[in-house]
Amino acid sequence: MKATYDLLVIGGGPAGAIAARTAARAGHSVLLVEKRPAIGAPVRCAEGIGKEALAEFVEPDERWISAELKRAELVGPDGVSMLLEAELAGSKVGYILDRKVFDRELVWQAAEAGADVMVKTRASAPLISHGVVKGAVLEVCGEKKKVHAEITIAADGVESKFSRWCSVDTTVPVREIMSSCQYLMTDIDIDEECTTFFLGNEIAPEGYLWIFPKGKRTANVGVGISGKKSGKGHRAKDYLDRFVRKRFPDGKTIECIVGGVSVCRPLACTVADGLIIAGDAARVVDPLTGGGIYNAMFTGDLAAKVASKAIGKGKVNAAALMPYDEGWRTSAMGKAIERNYHIKEYLIKLPDEKLNAIIHSARSLDMKDFSTLTLVKELMKRNPKLVAELAVLKASIG
Ligand SMILES: Cc1cc2nc3c(=O)[nH]c(=O)nc-3n(C[C@H](O)[C@H](O)[C@H](O)COP(=O)(O)OP(=O)(O)OC[C@H]3O[C@@H](n4cnc5c(N)ncnc54)[C@H](O)[C@@H]3O)c2cc1C
Repeated sequence: MKATYDLLVIGGGPAGAIAARTAARAGHSVLLVEKRPAIGAPVRCAEGIGKEALAEFVEPDERWISAELKRAELVGPDGVSMLLEAELAGSKVGYILDRKVFDRELVWQAAEAGADVMVKTRASAPLISHGVVKGAVLEVCGEKKKVHAEITIAADGVESKFSRWCSVDTTVPVREIMSSCQYLMTDIDIDEECTTFFLGNEIAPEGYLWIFPKGKRTANVGVGISGKKSGKGHRAKDYLDRFVRKRFPDGKTIECIVGGVSVCRPLACTVADGLIIAGDAARVVDPLTGGGIYNAMFTGDLAAKVASKAIGKGKVNAAALMPYDEGWRTSAMGKAIERNYHIKEYLIKLPDEKLNAIIHSARSLDMKDFSTLTLVKELMKRNPKLVAELAVLKASIG
């Protein structure tokens, strides 16, 4: 580890790894620091990602793909299900990753490109000079070291503190934190090529429950509920236990994780002088699905590209870094976040009867190009009464 780098990247998840890889490939000196002792573990993710989205950043490799999906199923509160077969779901359905291996692969690629990597190294405070972020104090095995950098990329995930220490407001309202619990279960009867989503206020209030196959008789089985719905006796784990007891009474749980997912709007601004915020730290998770792997890679990559240009021009203030903030907001990803935020806000307010009505009408849909957007558009055509209830939803999806 040197004392000075072009770029300091905080966090070894997908956002940080791709940022470090892109910047190192552009010839910059980069240090990526990860507070945990091992990249990728423990996994706090259901590990689903679309095929096309993944391929934008990394060549698919069977070493870190646990399952390839052919179908997706949506089950309503009354148990009626809607199945999307491969020809409808197409490449949007995707893979279930093995993130322990996947995250490591991304960091390896960053290291291979020339980035320095340090694990068990926590950024514990920013270095700030005349209001400009200039790097960080790092705690390495109990010892404090200062590392200076032209630009620091905060990719420190949903629990991000670094940006807050740099005076950025990163607050997420409790109702917009999905409180999640997931079991990696084995010895269970599942369709190994199908992801299943369960909706309903009894099963997952203001959220959903998922079964994501991980291979033979094995799956990530999890639930996310609104933080404001969580309390004694009705935490995410309680909902999951109830479901598992009924559906997989003989299944074995070999891993349990809990975690939060922000389903709020992104931060009001994702740059400051000398600082770029990427991935979950920027709150760019898709508010409707809770998916954030792609968005983390997208923002990590863009952060590094904008940082590279800014360093080249010798200007690292917030104005010089604004193309990053504007870039992701105006991208297809940024627009999808805004649109899906409205859809999520609409759906979470629906009583179960209306959810049932939507799923019943969706069962007969014939969509050539499946996506969240086409699904919602089709549903709106069939449920004009529902749409009239929320004009903003109509305006946001056109
Ligand atoms: C239960 C659950 C299920 C999910 N399922 C899916 C899914 O199926 N598909 C999907 O796309 N997304 C899913 N997500 C979301 C997805 O996991 C995240 O969006 C994604 O990991 C974000 O990547 P990131 O790099 O921004 O953050 P992270 O992957 O969280 O990486 C941030 C890293 O920064 C490190 N760090 C934090 N603070 C410091 C510090 N001070 N110094 C050094 N290192 C630090 C952390 O240890 C961590 O390794 C799920 C999330 C949860 C909780």
